[in-house]
Amino acid sequence: MQIMETNLTVPIAAENFEQAALQITTAADSGAEMLELRVDYLQDLSVGLVKKLVAEAKSNTSPQLPIIVTCRDKQQGGAGSYPEQLRIGVLVGAVESGAEFIDLEYENYLSAQNRERIDSALSKTSKTRLILSAHNFETKFADIDKLHTEILENCPEAIAKLVYTANNINDCFDGFDLLHKTSGECIVFCMGEAGLISRIIARKLGCFVTFASIDDKSVTAPGQLTIGELKNLYRYDSINSDTELFGVIASPVAHSLSPAVHNTCFQDIRANMLYLPLLVQGGKKGFDEFMHNVLDRKWLGFRGFSVTIPHKAHALDYVSGAGEFLESLAADIGAVNTLKIGLNGRVSGYNTDYAGAMNALVSAIGIKKRDLHNVDVAVIGAGGVGRAVVAGLTDVGAKITIYNRTVTKAQALAEEFKCKYAGLDTLSQIDAKIVINCTSIGMYPNVEATPLPQDYLKKEMVVFDTVYNPAETLLIRQAKQVGAKTVDGISMFVNQALAQFKIFTGRNGNAEIMNKIVFQAVHNK
Ligand code: NAP
Repeated sequence: MQIMETNLTVPIAAENFEQAALQITTAADSGAEMLELRVDYLQDLSVGLVKKLVAEAKSNTSPQLPIIVTCRDKQQGGAGSYPEQLRIGVLVGAVESGAEFIDLEYENYLSAQNRERIDSALSKTSKTRLILSAHNFETKFADIDKLHTEILENCPEAIAKLVYTANNINDCFDGFDLLHKTSGECIVFCMGEAGLISRIIARKLGCFVTFASIDDKSVTAPGQLTIGELKNLYRYDSINSDTELFGVIASPVAHSLSPAVHNTCFQDIRANMLYLPLLVQGGKKGFDEFMHNVLDRKWLGFRGFSVTIPHKAHALDYVSGAGEFLESLAADIGAVNTLKIGLNGRVSGYNTDYAGAMNALVSAIGIKKRDLHNVDVAVIGAGGVGRAVVAGLTDVGAKITIYNRTVTKAQALAEEFKCKYAGLDTLSQIDAKIVINCTSIGMYPNVEATPLPQDYLKKEMVVFDTVYNPAETLLIRQAKQVGAKTVDGISMFVNQALAQFKIFTGRNGNAEIMNKIVFQAVHNK
């Protein structure tokens, strides 16, 4: 099947001519491949003004960019409440002034009067094509295939545009299937955060256009990315039909640093790989459905995932049931944070959290993992990170004591991994060589809190704080003041990302790049 070229289209949504002219120049300078003049945003809409704008867009872009003129109906997401006949008149004017495309609501095209005006204008030129669009702002279309067929039966020369809200990432797959099936021009994408990936992989699937705004303020539809995000964060220009897909499965996902970290490192090794934020909601059911959808569609090219809150246990269950290989420590920890899809379509599960912690620790001290055998380690915290750290330390034979606010949780973890436990009130007697904070104490915004008062810290200790926001916690600052060796949370984050990168690509990631991205992101908060 021939994959269409996707046109990166920037909407020009301005209230007047001057604003629009400025937006046109900015969009062209930012790398737009096509412009959509959203003339329903104009305050004094008239046929003359639209003709003037089309002429402006044609004369002030070099090379000249193709233009879509859209005058959206209020019910279908339009900005102004202009009468239907004015909107049709404006589109006829756009045809007369040589716009390459006009976008009309399919619903409006079904009226005989509108249809006659539009068809008559189009019959006088071979320059302009009609886009017939349908939107569903609530949910997915009941039958997107049927709607697509119906539109083309009514107007075989048209490009069908079908846009709907994805309330869940699993809603996107109907749209992907349609794009995969249609060898001709077709525009399909999903609105909302759960549908964001459809705007990025549009280029992989040959969607006729994808839309991106100039900046945050000029977004014209929910979930629209800026052209900068699409090009810089998601490597838009390097996406093609062979691009392999990866992503972080999480809920929430918007603040994840993983897309920036992995995409930059994919670029560093010039891999044809793309890393996406995957908002998977709906607990275990939503997770299983997502995996099923992905594995059912080999042509989508998903090859691996990072997995985080709340899906690490779901990922473990999934691999335990239907997987190919499960790392034994991931099973001991009770969490899978990395999934790799093999060429045979089967899934393997790993945990790189413990590897990240252990690698950060040994590289900071300058020892080998085996040197931790019989070393006294105090682990503060008995949550998910505490569990991964205890499993990693048990694996190398360290002598562990788990300290936790809820002592029964410390006790349960200690019994499982055959180590000692105590409450936080006994920390004053701490006599460990290595202390690891696995609680959220000291994390932004409570940056003046520490799990271990400075009086308890000793020069001979190694102090490791898994908290990475802020980059330097109070615990780390005070440990440095007493002359102790320190290991920070960014180092752990980077080491777990490096371990994931190796599983995804088989190659070593660039630690320096990863460090820089995480450090900058934490500092810019
Ligand atoms: P979790 O499962 O929710 O566990 C939280 C732990 O913190 C529990 O032991 C909890 O004690 C303790 N805790 C929370 N608030 C406390 C307080 N006010 N006083 C005393 N103890 C308190 O969370 P997690 O997934 O293990 O994550 C823990 C921290 O690790 C996160 O906050 C994050 O900063 C850090 N982290 C770092 C990385 C990295 O790559 N560097 C990755 C993930 C997480 P109770 O059992 O008594 O509730």
